[in-house]
Amino acid sequence: MNFYKRNILIILTSFCLLLISCNNTNNVLVPDPILQSVVNTAHDIKKNSIGYPVNQDIQLEDFYKWYVENDIDKVSLNNVGDPFNSNVKLGIHNVEKEVIEFFAPFYGFSNDEFWGIVSASGTDGNNHGIYFGRKYLESKVDMKPIMYVSTESHYSNKRLADLQQIECRLIPSDKMGRMIPEEFEKVFDASRPALIVYSMGTTFKGGIDDMLTINKIVEKYNPPAVYIHVDAALFGGYLPFTDYAYLLDKNVYKYDSIAISGHKFFGIDEPCGLFLTTKEVLNAQSSFDTAYLNGSMPMINCSRSATNPLKFYWMIKKVGKEGYKKQANQILENAKYLKEKLDEISWPSWISDYSNTVFFKRPDKSILDKYYLASEYDSNFGGELAHIVVMQNLTKEKIDMLIEDIKKS
Ligand SMILES: *Cc1c(COP(=O)(O)O)cnc(C)c1O
Repeated sequence: MNFYKRNILIILTSFCLLLISCNNTNNVLVPDPILQSVVNTAHDIKKNSIGYPVNQDIQLEDFYKWYVENDIDKVSLNNVGDPFNSNVKLGIHNVEKEVIEFFAPFYGFSNDEFWGIVSASGTDGNNHGIYFGRKYLESKVDMKPIMYVSTESHYSNKRLADLQQIECRLIPSDKMGRMIPEEFEKVFDASRPALIVYSMGTTFKGGIDDMLTINKIVEKYNPPAVYIHVDAALFGGYLPFTDYAYLLDKNVYKYDSIAISGHKFFGIDEPCGLFLTTKEVLNAQSSFDTAYLNGSMPMINCSRSATNPLKFYWMIKKVGKEGYKKQANQILENAKYLKEKLDEISWPSWISDYSNTVFFKRPDKSILDKYYLASEYDSNFGGELAHIVVMQNLTKEKIDMLIEDIKKS
């Protein structure tokens, strides 16, 4: 009897030890105060953040489940190389190509005419647009180009002009954030190639540059060569799915490349984007044939994310055109609702055409902090301002709560 008892005890004890050790290897990092702070921060951002143009209505739970269930979490994938001319087998270029092929027609690129990548961010897309633009212009004329961009354009464009050492002329914006065509005409130098960067929704006021009017000025002066890049990081996500899709039609606005962020409208949970251009532009790039990668490397980055294109692909399949249409119309409707509610309490506020960004008299600091609101100063609108970017996660109920908070303050 004793013998059996002892054996059972030993078996039980070993089993317990095994359980404990399994538990330990699974959770070797938890509890940890820093990691706990991450949990708290993430939940607070999810609940309250409405001041930045990021879709917090992330729907990737099924993606992560599929990813882990199929042991893809145990592999390092890398989309190094050209998704349209794939010779590197460390990634999933076929998925990236599908994503580009899905989106290109929404911007008016026709069948075989386009080339693109899932970029690292909107900024990365602008970097490629400006660099590809410079190389394209240099392939046409042996002369340094001048870049034109508005004062209210995203800072990345000015930073990138500096980084790439391109002479940059800043064109004053009107009070709604749009490049002023007359000011453009004043500083336009028709003796040199022109690299124009249009803003399709400026960061703070959601202004859209009047591309048709400015294009006409360029045509009138007929410079030696022209390249047009559109920075459509935020608006380029939702506008193609609204009645205003024509605003992004490449055939109307004659642009050569466009950059869009993936984490703003499309619901990807980490920074990424789309960069789209034409084959004509691609063919004007230095190929940098790279032996160890069996091919040419037209893009700036070597290693590139494979999971971002995969998440994009997942969202295309899950949400698709119809789903994105619903979301796009909903954010524009809710932006209108927010503007009306601010009007009702006579709180000074403004919104640009086609915009999901409402800017208004800056409320109490407690409200800025609670809702993660960004600040701006503009004497055209009485000085201190804040804005809300209406994304999928900002519901009418949340807007009502915010209005109550503003009223109370
Ligand atoms: C957000 C934004 C950018 C920067 O994009 P990231 O994806 O954050 O790098 C550039 N331009 C405009 C107009 C933007 O709204």
